[in-house]
Amino acid sequence: MPEIALQNIHKSFGKVDVIRDVSLEIESGEFVVFVGPSGCGKSTLLRVIAGLEDVTDGSVHIAGKDVTDEEPSDRGVAMVFQSYALYPHMTVADNMSFGLRMAHRPKAEIDDKVGRAAKILQLDQLLDRKPGQLSGGQRQRVAIGRAIVRDPKVFLFDEPLSNLDAELRVQMRVEIAKLHKTLGNTMIYVTHDQTEALTLADRIVVLRGGVIEQVGSPLELYENPANAFVAGFIGSPR
Ligand code: ADP
Ligand code: MG
Repeated sequence: MPEIALQNIHKSFGKVDVIRDVSLEIESGEFVVFVGPSGCGKSTLLRVIAGLEDVTDGSVHIAGKDVTDEEPSDRGVAMVFQSYALYPHMTVADNMSFGLRMAHRPKAEIDDKVGRAAKILQLDQLLDRKPGQLSGGQRQRVAIGRAIVRDPKVFLFDEPLSNLDAELRVQMRVEIAKLHKTLGNTMIYVTHDQTEALTLADRIVVLRGGVIEQVGSPLELYENPANAFVAGFIGSPR
């Protein structure tokens, strides 16, 4: 049974068809990267999986359950955004535990989960700081920590590194790969950066105009692109 199954997903905003008949199955533990030019529907497809957008047609299954009409909080997914959206007046620990505190989880459980996430992300020495006292990379780690403490089945990343400078981006890319190894969760990662896609992905999904152009491993896409668009997108030097 796939962890995520998208069946004939259509999404329109008014008269504009943004996602057109997308079907895709993602196995448990897979790292799948959505790539494609700006405006091709990457974020919309991710938000459909998260439940932040309703589908116009089609269905979303997660862990064998039809979640098409379920709230985001009931889907077992956690999303990490490009803008960190941390609360500036709260400490790192409070930022990370915010969702759990809102859900009235017991304090011992919260402390345990925050502690473990902080260790994985090397934030254990920084738990009392405020976001303003952190570097960009540290802030992004806190944003990832907020997702980890929720124990999601699936992590959804929407261009999480695009606000970072080039050097930090490489460093964080390595950390995200490590995180995937450590946690073993299913991860879906949106980027327009082909290097990120090629280095992180088990499978790459190439989108154009709301349609899947090709799905395959980095090697398959690199060696056997389905068409000139995929070849141009995957193969072109940066
Ligand atoms: P990407 O993430 O690949 O850059 P998006 O999924 O953000 O693309 O957007 C795909 C298309 O859908 C774009 O043309 C965008 O303008 C449009 N779009 C996205 N969200 C909305 C919305 N809430 N209302 C209207 N149009 C939207
Ligand atoms: Mg986007």
